[in-house]
Amino acid sequence: MGDSLKATIATTVGSSLIFETASAKTPQVDLAPSNASLNSFTPFVFVQIPLPYEKNALEPFIDTMTMDIHYTKHHAAYIKNVNEAIVAENITYQTEKEFFDNASKLSPKARNNAGGAWNHNFFWQIMKPHVEGTPNGKVLEAIDNSFGSMPKFIEQFNAAAMARFGSGWAWLIKDSDGKLVITSTPNQDNPLMDDAEIKGTPLLGLDVWEHAYYLKYQNQRKEYVSNWWNIVNWDEVAKLLG
Ligand code: MN
Repeated sequence: MGDSLKATIATTVGSSLIFETASAKTPQVDLAPSNASLNSFTPFVFVQIPLPYEKNALEPFIDTMTMDIHYTKHHAAYIKNVNEAIVAENITYQTEKEFFDNASKLSPKARNNAGGAWNHNFFWQIMKPHVEGTPNGKVLEAIDNSFGSMPKFIEQFNAAAMARFGSGWAWLIKDSDGKLVITSTPNQDNPLMDDAEIKGTPLLGLDVWEHAYYLKYQNQRKEYVSNWWNIVNWDEVAKLLG
């Protein structure tokens, strides 16, 4: 090692305070592609939405500690990991739609974490603090038309949530014919993915990963699923239905 290099290292170590200060200003994930200087292209990245309510707002149906860990640990990790994959793998899709239209071509890291990022942003928004009442207007009409009645719809949706073996999601979607359909997906897959068994626009999604309920409900997924209807944001479902 030459003397000048030794000197450089010594200087760097000696000025660690400055180094730390500089690094603290650097974003955790560098979202600019490595060839940023060659073009001005910026890829689509995922952003974690702020929770639309306090972490204790869905009590007693979803407990505060579960909300806290789910949002700040699990969801935050999906966001961080998908954005890392976007940079590392030079993924250049420019919209969320384009991303999921090409899900079958993504690496497992990009696919699983993109699903986790999107699914949870969606999940937070289709829930709200408990108020008495069930859907009305066009949502109720669409549910009645597709499933016969609200109780029949809930029964079928709950069955899909219970039948999903292991980790995954249950969904209510609007298919390309405008018909409402219940489906479920494994892992962090969703019905927007090009290779989903049943594709469509999500109107409702229920996270049935154990991390979503285990602290409060332990092995009682059925109780978590039936309690969840108390905190569904039907106004949001109406907006999504269009
Ligand atoms: Mn989850």
